[in-house]
Amino acid sequence: MGTEPAYVYALVNAIAVLIIACPCALGLATPMSVMVGVGKGAQNGVLIKNAEALEKMDKVDTLIVDKTGTITEGKPTVEKMGSFDNGFSDSEVLQYIVSLNNQSEHPLAEATIKYGKEQKADFLKADGFNAVTGKGVEGNVNGKKVALGNAKMMEYAKATLSKEMEEKAQFFQKQGKTVSYLAIDGNLVGYVVIGDKIKKTSAKAIKELQDKGIDVIMLTGDNHDTAQAVANELNLADFQAGMLPENKLQEVEKLQENGKVVAMAGDGINDAPALAKSDVGIAMGTGTDVAIESAAITLVKGDLHGIVKARNLSDVVMRNIKQNLFFAMIYNTLGIPIAAGLLYPFFGILLSPMIAALAMSFSSVSVIANSLRLKGSNID
Ligand SMILES: [Mg+2]
Repeated sequence: MGTEPAYVYALVNAIAVLIIACPCALGLATPMSVMVGVGKGAQNGVLIKNAEALEKMDKVDTLIVDKTGTITEGKPTVEKMGSFDNGFSDSEVLQYIVSLNNQSEHPLAEATIKYGKEQKADFLKADGFNAVTGKGVEGNVNGKKVALGNAKMMEYAKATLSKEMEEKAQFFQKQGKTVSYLAIDGNLVGYVVIGDKIKKTSAKAIKELQDKGIDVIMLTGDNHDTAQAVANELNLADFQAGMLPENKLQEVEKLQENGKVVAMAGDGINDAPALAKSDVGIAMGTGTDVAIESAAITLVKGDLHGIVKARNLSDVVMRNIKQNLFFAMIYNTLGIPIAAGLLYPFFGILLSPMIAALAMSFSSVSVIANSLRLKGSNID
């Protein structure tokens, strides 16, 4: 000790305590990790709109996936069109289907129009187009009332689906294809078979997520047989078919009420309510704007492997935040008692304010350096 009066030491010590007690790096610990994590995600095609999603993704135990456009390519192609020998020929069925669908922008409709053009079908005069959510479409073609869609649509159009027709449809549905029926003036006259390939990466991604202990559930508006065929191919035990948009939302709510942390992956307008309600909404970048708007995470390539990446990213970011909190606190925890004079009576050691300031700088530098390490982590 020098010759200065005691109050000088008291003042210097008090300043050292104040400096070392300031947890300045604490304010950096979480935002730094999240910021680097969000950047890392973007580089890997995982766009994170809100940081909360990045934190919650780590806790997700249930994943709901939509089928069309999410698990599958969402690029449907017509494989077959046919009549039920009910007063209309194959080519008339084709004419009515393409003429009605010509007013629609639905991917299934576009597939039929493409097919119709290839088959050089004549387009008839059509108006009064109306889409019935989850069922199909209706309108007037050539002065006749026309309905096209699933079995529910036929019920809506008061057209009877015979056992024989249903069996014919099931033959295709069991192969994972979608069958739409055509009714003209309340008579079921034909059908169209539309196929949609499963994305190459879907099966592997679902398997990886299941291996991480996440329950994967497929929800689709498609019928049971089509859904079953896709589920079989992906080894998915859990799926529900014939879902309307509100059913998907209800399913998310039901799981959340049971204490599940639910992520939902989808691409369509029909997925939007469920995407917004889920704990982590994940939209396919290849999907509709409404879905992307409703979701917290967007997978640029629209590939389910992006969900595995998002989960891995969340894991490393959360671990990184914990490390940062350690670095932010350790210098203070060790420094405060020393600065306050704990060791002074025994060893004559006090903390100089300069050393205290240096320790605080180190604390921030450690946090920043540790956050930047995230850049090199493997989330694939
Ligand atoms: Mg979809």
